[in-house]
Amino acid sequence: MESVDLLVVGCGPAGATAAREAARRGLETIVLEKDAVVGSKRVCAAGLRPGFCETFDLPRSLVHCDTPRLALFDAAGREHAMAFGPGHTSTREELDATMAALAAREGAQIRTEALFRRVERAAGRAVVEFADLRAGERRRIAARYLFLATGASARVEGPQLQRLAMMEWPRGLMTTLQVRVYLDRPANAIAYRTLEMHYYAAQDGRQIIAWMFPKRDHLAIGLGVLGKMRGEPLRAELDAFVGRVHDRLYPHADVVRTKQEGHLLYGGMPRPALADANLLIGGTAAGLVDATNGEGIFEAAMSGRFAADAIAGARDNPERAGARYSALLTQRFARRLRHRVRLMRFLERRPARFGMLFERLARSPRFVEVLQREDCDRTMSDRLFLYQQALRFGLGAVTRRE
Ligand SMILES: Cc1cc2nc3c(=O)[nH]c(=O)nc-3n(C[C@H](O)[C@H](O)[C@H](O)COP(=O)(O)OP(=O)(O)OC[C@H]3O[C@@H](n4cnc5c(N)ncnc54)[C@H](O)[C@@H]3O)c2cc1C
Repeated sequence: MESVDLLVVGCGPAGATAAREAARRGLETIVLEKDAVVGSKRVCAAGLRPGFCETFDLPRSLVHCDTPRLALFDAAGREHAMAFGPGHTSTREELDATMAALAAREGAQIRTEALFRRVERAAGRAVVEFADLRAGERRRIAARYLFLATGASARVEGPQLQRLAMMEWPRGLMTTLQVRVYLDRPANAIAYRTLEMHYYAAQDGRQIIAWMFPKRDHLAIGLGVLGKMRGEPLRAELDAFVGRVHDRLYPHADVVRTKQEGHLLYGGMPRPALADANLLIGGTAAGLVDATNGEGIFEAAMSGRFAADAIAGARDNPERAGARYSALLTQRFARRLRHRVRLMRFLERRPARFGMLFERLARSPRFVEVLQREDCDRTMSDRLFLYQQALRFGLGAVTRRE
């Protein structure tokens, strides 16, 4: 049986960042990825927050469009625009492949077509069984640390992962469907400068979050809904939404090609337990997604960084590494992500609330700026400002008659 310092499962932004930063610190690292080509099957709008490439030392060539404008569309279809960043867009094929290549350059071994099956513990090590899909064989690796970063479809079960399991996980899953629209000529110029998010009710009354994110050669247009939705109504919802985007942004252009893709997204609370000694869970598998907009790439990559930091800093003390990792993640993300779930549920109860909030945001650049900042980076004056805004919005929202 092979033996390694750190075994990472999943080569998305969480796994690849953990591998890159752990290998750089001298940890012998292997990544197991079930797909044959890293990133090739990731369904994602790949919108990136301002400064993403710099934060994770990634080449700017990944960026398709810089998007200095954020446009939020309320339940009545009204647009509320605000300055943002600029944010960026990319594709997951490029982002994940680049992150994996950089991890390999630091010395991590990336094994594709390697499907994680289960983990056991023996003599303080995590013994992972996986299927080598190329060779058609089962293999095992013993690792001093295991970082589980398998995304929204993560199966966190079995006796060894019991302490990380979360009963409510399935209730946070969202069904998504996205289409890449390739045009014969560019859409209206504003499309390439804007990240669009739309919030409205589906035919069956459920809340939809939809988006249009521009890329160099296509527009990514998609939507998500909490829970399951069958293929037919889901496609009908997407067709209707694409029709509206067409009328606004590319009425003059012909569609050359489309590619439809669907996947699960997580939009619930973060996992309460993020580590059990030498077993760490990160990225979307840890529930690190912003429920108001589906952002999870930044959180995933940051969790990978924290895992590498915690493991490298406490190599021979798994209890300390696990505790350090949990503390770093909780301090950085827990408050905001929990709050965003509660905010989303509050807005959904009365859809007119989306418009009230967006109006407030569009009027106040400071509000947008402070909201973008992580809680731990906010000053006392930011916090006071935010409480004031929240109070005004909350009072207005609960007292307003519809
Ligand atoms: C439609 C959609 C749009 C989105 N848009 C955005 C956006 O614009 N911006 C943003 O920030 N976030 C967005 N997200 C969220 C974002 O995709 C995730 O938060 C992010 O990918 C999480 O990264 P991760 O590394 O945790 O997991 P993932 O990126 O999901 O990577 C998990 C990896 O694990 C592998 N894997 C899974 N199971 C196994 C197994 N058993 N064995 C081996 N390998 C396995 C997978 O193949 C995959 O490569 C979107 C999500 C969806 C579904």
